[in-house]
Amino acid sequence: MITKKETIASRKIVLGPSLSLAYDDPLKIIKGRGQYLYDESGKEYLDCVNNISHVGHCHPIVIQAAHEQNQLLNTNTRYLHDNILELAEILTLKLPAPLSVCHFVNSGSEANELALRMAAAVTGNQNTIVLDHAYHGNTTSLINISPYKFNGKGGLGKTENVEVVPSPDIYRGNYTNPGNAGTQYAKYVQNAVIKQGKGSTFIAESLLGCGGQIVLPKGFLQESFQYVKSNGGVCISDEVQVGLGRIGSHYWGFELQKVIPDIVTIGKPLGNGHPISAVVTSPEIADAFNNGMEYFNSFGGNPVSCAIAYSVLKVIDDEELQNNALDVGNYLMSELKILKKECEIIGDVRGSGLFIGIEIVEDKQTKLPATKSAIEIINRMKENGILLSTDGPFNNVLKIKPPMVFTRENATTIIECFKDLFF
Ligand code: PMP
Repeated sequence: MITKKETIASRKIVLGPSLSLAYDDPLKIIKGRGQYLYDESGKEYLDCVNNISHVGHCHPIVIQAAHEQNQLLNTNTRYLHDNILELAEILTLKLPAPLSVCHFVNSGSEANELALRMAAAVTGNQNTIVLDHAYHGNTTSLINISPYKFNGKGGLGKTENVEVVPSPDIYRGNYTNPGNAGTQYAKYVQNAVIKQGKGSTFIAESLLGCGGQIVLPKGFLQESFQYVKSNGGVCISDEVQVGLGRIGSHYWGFELQKVIPDIVTIGKPLGNGHPISAVVTSPEIADAFNNGMEYFNSFGGNPVSCAIAYSVLKVIDDEELQNNALDVGNYLMSELKILKKECEIIGDVRGSGLFIGIEIVEDKQTKLPATKSAIEIINRMKENGILLSTDGPFNNVLKIKPPMVFTRENATTIIECFKDLFF
């Protein structure tokens, strides 16, 4: 058995140093089941953060779907095959009209990259409006529209055709009155549209992930979309983190805001860990993109990936995981809100379904971000067998976004563990 020390040492030699590891004392995870992960010594961890393993680690139905199709065939989209069509049909049934045309790719980044190209085919330019602290992917053009990266360590700053609007954060942002914050923050989008002239692409997550687990204020997307669209622009909803029932009350995050985007990008959870993602749009936009240049993708939409994604969508429905996210998420949120009242360093608890953020502060009055404490908390929770992570502009927001099979008992375990730590 290769020891953890040896694994760390060889990682340093054969892998690029820009790959990071979670936790001060990194974990070597060798097995996963449902919402649990196991390290090399057999120690069990409750996974509260892996929204990629959406229906649970190593779900038997998903594994079976992959295995059966792997034994038969894996090719590309230049041959006719029914798996891709079955997937497109079941996926578009989950989306409102006119979102009825799919392109399958291999990662959230690839999906957003393609979405930007489609939007540019409509607008005729590269003008893009993004929310501050947003992250949309790892390619050159996506780093350029991700303030999280271009304003972060090693970033090269904003490029000319990108407008950054303030994050609509009603806890520590410019506007905090939930009654009108959506309208106020949308005004920034209006100004950016005016500045860019006709035809901006507006890309936003429908709940903000890297931006700090933020639920958008009422009306924000509705009003922003109106400003963008009335100027001939295109609105992309990045559902890479929050799609497929995670938020409990709805299947898609954009439904919370009562909007229909022009383009939706879907990633992480779609393959339950297998690399498949999707761009779904209207027939008009798909046609505009069809300018004579073939779109070929070696792996995107292959029969194995499609069989896997189809099985994931089926499992979400068959096991009623959206309902579970609503029930367990509501329970966990209400327990966390009680804890917040008793605990000076919990500044805010927010979220929807199984997408929750806990903002750690020095004290409730000043709201000063307590980044060190947040990091200490996730390290201590890890020692107690609970895996969380931190994010947000100050890296002081604890993220909870577990596999959707998370139970009320699991939620109670987190709360008890927090109590042990805080009191
Ligand atoms: N969009 C959002 C909102 C994301 O959080 C991420 C990944 N964290 C991406 C896009 C990029 O996805 P991937 O890592 O699959 O390329």
